[in-house]
Amino acid sequence: MATPVAAKKDASQDRQKRMIADHYGRLSRTHLTGEKNCYTYVPGNLTELLRTFDLLPVLPEINALQSGMRGKTREYIAAAEKEGHSEDVCAYVKSDIGMISSGNVGPTGERLPPPDLLLLSYTGCFTFLKWFELLREKYKCPIVMLHVPYQGEGAITPSMRKYVVDQLKEKVIPILEEVSGKKYDEDRLREHLVRSAAAEDDLVAVLQSAKHRPSPIDAYFGGVYYIGPMFTAFRGTQDAVEYYKELRSEVEARMAQGKGPITPEGEIVEKYRVVVEGPPAWTHFRELWKMFGDEGAVCVASTYTKVGGTYDFGFRHDPAHPLETLADYCMGCYTNINLPGRVDMISRYVEEYAADGFLINSVKSCKSFSAGQLMILREVEKRTGRPGGFIESDLVDARYFSAANIKNRLESYFQMIAQKRAATGVAVGAS
Ligand code: SF4
Repeated sequence: MATPVAAKKDASQDRQKRMIADHYGRLSRTHLTGEKNCYTYVPGNLTELLRTFDLLPVLPEINALQSGMRGKTREYIAAAEKEGHSEDVCAYVKSDIGMISSGNVGPTGERLPPPDLLLLSYTGCFTFLKWFELLREKYKCPIVMLHVPYQGEGAITPSMRKYVVDQLKEKVIPILEEVSGKKYDEDRLREHLVRSAAAEDDLVAVLQSAKHRPSPIDAYFGGVYYIGPMFTAFRGTQDAVEYYKELRSEVEARMAQGKGPITPEGEIVEKYRVVVEGPPAWTHFRELWKMFGDEGAVCVASTYTKVGGTYDFGFRHDPAHPLETLADYCMGCYTNINLPGRVDMISRYVEEYAADGFLINSVKSCKSFSAGQLMILREVEKRTGRPGGFIESDLVDARYFSAANIKNRLESYFQMIAQKRAATGVAVGAS
């Protein structure tokens, strides 16, 4: 149950807002300043390397999800479908195409510049490839692809690492030099990586605070704000270091006071602890969070917050091996991990975060996430003995969000957990 409190923003939230505003402001002025940009994707992004060449990252998925949260995607998707993109195409792509056709105005209301370079870090999703083909047709700009091998056997081998490093040396760095007009400076890259590792330590401390009872954070709905700077344009910057330091101290203070997570509706008094698999439904983000909050359900771990990097099992960017560490980072992103690896991860979360169960939000758009989720459901249930629940929606296509259906399923799921507890004599909300 959410307890209403005065809506007061934490200092870290204000800082993140300023960082985003500055970034989009810079992008909107590139025609005056001459700064160059690079469009690239979240999984396997090479932010530190781009910043070594002073290129500003633009993440089309982030623009799409922001459009979803701002209620713009209905119009954008309709525009893209009118241009001939089928209903089955990933809604992020259609949102982006619709946004471009409507003037390419980004999340802060400022116009985004056309790309100076398209950098496709290919982490297993074929749609990424088709999406950038569409952008290349529109913008006629240079494009480069970094092929990231899938962890089919569940591990990163030396030959996989070499394969990525060779592409970085032979294809990616030369085109970054050409587009930016700057020489590759490895010492500068190392400086970015030192800052990345510092911020990653603090992010992990924030995510792992959810092991505490009550959890001071919501690691899914709240978690998407926490991963924002790390997964997008800011990893490797001093701003990101300051943001994560500040966020960590706020979360630790909440934990010391025994407080639960703050939501837009107020503070949640923890009754159920769940792990969540799959991305949120951005068009109904607040509504979905409220459904969880009304049940007293706190998400203590989530896989979505690993889609742009998996840090909580020990990976940190390593300045001593700059290109190798970028390769390992790319290959370690969540959707590049095979299904047994994903089952292991979710089972570990359920155990280590002492969750009552786990919920899958299966989104229609993204097969990188949703393929195999029913197998994951069965396997994690079998391994942990904790119940799994299944809801369906979409990333940014509001036509696939049925509030009544989802609410019903969530209510039945939490009732089932309550009944199980009653049968074993454990009171609801007991620690
Ligand atoms: S299908 Fe999934 S991974 Fe691929 S572009 Fe769409 S949201 Fe991203």
